[in-house]
Amino acid sequence: MAPIVVTSALPYSNDRLHLGHLRSTYLPADIYARFLRRVGEDVIYVCATDEHGTPIALRAEKERVKPKDIADRYHPLIKDDLTRMGCSFDVFSRTTEGIHYETTKQFFLELFKKGYIYEQEIEQLRCPKCSKFLPDRYVEGTCPFCGFEGARGDSCDSCGRYLRPTDLKTPKCAICGAVPEIASTKHWFFKLTAFEGKLKEWLESNENIPQNVRNYALNWVKEGLKDWCITRDMGWGVPVPIEGAEGKVIYVWFDAPIGYISATRDLFMRKKDPEGWRRYWQGEGKIVHFIGKDIIYHHAIFWPAMLMGVDGFHPPDSVVAGEYLTLENKKMSKSRGWFIGIDEYLKNFDPDPMRYYLTSVAPLERDADFSTDEFIKKYNDELADVLGNFIHRTLTFLERFFESKVPEASLSDEDKSLISKIKETQDRVAKLLSEFHMRDALMSIMALAHEGNKYLNNSAPWNTIKTEPKRAAATLYVSVQVVKAIGSMLSPFLPFTAEKIWSMLNLSTSVHMESWDAASQPLPVGHTIGKPYPLFKKIKQEDIKKVKENLIPFKDVGPRVKIEEFAKVKIAIGEILRAEPVKGSKDLMFLEVDLGEYGTRPCVAGIAKYYAPQDLIRKKAAFLINVEPITLFGIKSDVMLLAADGGDKISILTPDKVVPPGSGVR
Ligand SMILES: [Zn+2]
Ligand SMILES: [Zn+2]
Repeated sequence: MAPIVVTSALPYSNDRLHLGHLRSTYLPADIYARFLRRVGEDVIYVCATDEHGTPIALRAEKERVKPKDIADRYHPLIKDDLTRMGCSFDVFSRTTEGIHYETTKQFFLELFKKGYIYEQEIEQLRCPKCSKFLPDRYVEGTCPFCGFEGARGDSCDSCGRYLRPTDLKTPKCAICGAVPEIASTKHWFFKLTAFEGKLKEWLESNENIPQNVRNYALNWVKEGLKDWCITRDMGWGVPVPIEGAEGKVIYVWFDAPIGYISATRDLFMRKKDPEGWRRYWQGEGKIVHFIGKDIIYHHAIFWPAMLMGVDGFHPPDSVVAGEYLTLENKKMSKSRGWFIGIDEYLKNFDPDPMRYYLTSVAPLERDADFSTDEFIKKYNDELADVLGNFIHRTLTFLERFFESKVPEASLSDEDKSLISKIKETQDRVAKLLSEFHMRDALMSIMALAHEGNKYLNNSAPWNTIKTEPKRAAATLYVSVQVVKAIGSMLSPFLPFTAEKIWSMLNLSTSVHMESWDAASQPLPVGHTIGKPYPLFKKIKQEDIKKVKENLIPFKDVGPRVKIEEFAKVKIAIGEILRAEPVKGSKDLMFLEVDLGEYGTRPCVAGIAKYYAPQDLIRKKAAFLINVEPITLFGIKSDVMLLAADGGDKISILTPDKVVPPGSGVR
């Protein structure tokens, strides 16, 4: 039996996590790890916070604290949120631990000695005022692809492309705003190109890699890989461990995945078995990574290549990538406040209903939506009516008519048929889980609960108890075995509920310590069950509004303004006379606007993705007319078009009655 290490992507330690993270990464990994423990595999589930990189360094500089202070602030919060959601990590370490620095240096040095890391002089942006180089997010500017002005040195939030600082148009230092100069500096590159053939072979031959990951990664390999700059001119990170590299650190995306190994080493150091980690990562050991789809490149290209380059290691057995979660069909966004934080959710709800929702709503390899209506529906119709109801009916009936004891039974064909479904379900769930089909596995258990309800209704023990007590006994014997099976199999998915079922059945051990086969091992005749209580209380019609508000609280409007302050803002209706896309920009549109007594004014608006020029001409819309003028792409913008931001839609504000251009808006 090969040891298995299950990992979930390292959360970045500058913010708390939300439901999207839980759904794509932490929950499926937890279900998988819990299942493997139940089938008796030698498995560990490891995670850590990722604490290096420019977002933390930059934020620390702005808040005038140390980068470590930011990481210290979020590490315990992230760990606590995930643990309270039931994530059963064997270790939750940090990439600022000494063991991580040591492991990262070992990786770097071995790859360097083998010639997989080489030195090269490159041009970088440098701030003359701060007198330092500006890696990644230390630079802001205009995206060369889409014209978005808030692009950062590593990526553009508008079009989603990866960028290099030198790609940005009109770059600015993110600290002081000065225009950077170009200077040459020495850096180290990882020879990714040397691994092209091996990566291709690994991706093509490994059947355990899900289709979505394989397709993305193979396409990248076919497009051709580039060597990868893995050092940065900054002070926050693992120092580059070679001479002549003073003041430089290893790039965060080189050290972060090594964090999986150092977290494992951290675990075994605590167990006083400092070499114990090796059996998971080397030799027979199997590595299974759970990640979000935005970091497939790092886990299916960079990281396997790094592992291939270091003696004793081998690439992952699988990389499972969860797709995105939207909120009420709108993209979640931290900056817009459109998300549900794990801690927010846990203030009013138990973890299991959300674990149920996120697992059952869609297969992992497909995008999913969180909707409050659907959450309430699933809670009431599936958890309360199907699962909870079957268990409660069975156990209360046993309590009332059989002194809480499992009765003796002589089984009919129908009874036997349901008993045989227990084993079938147990095998099917195991197979589905081993192939990462979490949703289908959970649905199989729910199908058994459905069968149980149907069987109870058909057998009607509330009638047979009077006419044919032996029949009623058989029905209850079968039903309580199904309850046990469901409780047992639910443990990876709904760990808290499974434990409750276990204790209602008066089974002394923890369900999580049982073998997977416990599902089909019958409760013996005469076994006394515990006190039943309803597992899921139905959400009543009159409480729905409150429940929805607890899930998605109304947004705070922020600081209030005085009416006199608002009066300083001049808004007027203008008629658009001319509309032309701005050359070189995908977002911007030039407008000539008739503002009546305020004259005809130029306006540059970020609406080119949402309106064609001909749809705007002769339209009336609201404009902010006393805003300070700005120049975009060399074009002066004198007034600002106001529009409603509907997430993925933008709508201009058109008056619903005819009013003359220049009409003030009050
Ligand atoms: Zn862009
Ligand atoms: Zn500067």
